Amino acid sequence: MSTQSSDFADVDDLYQEIILDHYRSPRNQEKLAESDLEAEGVNPFCGDEVAIHVKLTDGIVTAVSFKGIGCSISQASASILTDAIKGKTLNESEALYLHFRDMMYGRSSLDDSVDHLGEVEALAGVKKFPIRVKCALLAWTTLEDAIKKYASDEAVK
Ligand code: ZN
Repeated sequence: MSTQSSDFADVDDLYQEIILDHYRSPRNQEKLAESDLEAEGVNPFCGDEVAIHVKLTDGIVTAVSFKGIGCSISQASASILTDAIKGKTLNESEALYLHFRDMMYGRSSLDDSVDHLGEVEALAGVKKFPIRVKCALLAWTTLEDAIKKYASDEAVK
């Protein structure tokens, strides 16, 4: 094995470590007393389910929780998402989702945005396994549904 390929293996190990850590000790599972946004999502290809609740304060995500069942990728992704959007506006959260989605579908490279993605970057390794991309995206498309619902509710008010 060349030096270069073992370097890549190390990176994959690190990513795998982050994903397993979130799967084994999922963050932000405490049910919120009240929430402004919520949505549930299902990935029928794998049987993954995720429900996300978000609390806003002055337009900033101040609390977020998820509940779910399914494979390690789907649940780790949900856990990483909840950490990633805390402190962001909905616009910023949506931008992160779009960037992540593009990345998973190979339409955007990682290199220009590593700083912003943090642990989300760990999920990028999943794109090598196209069938698991839907697992990794489930929590994010669920968040997008919640944001869309919230925006249309606000428009009616
Ligand atoms: Zn899955």
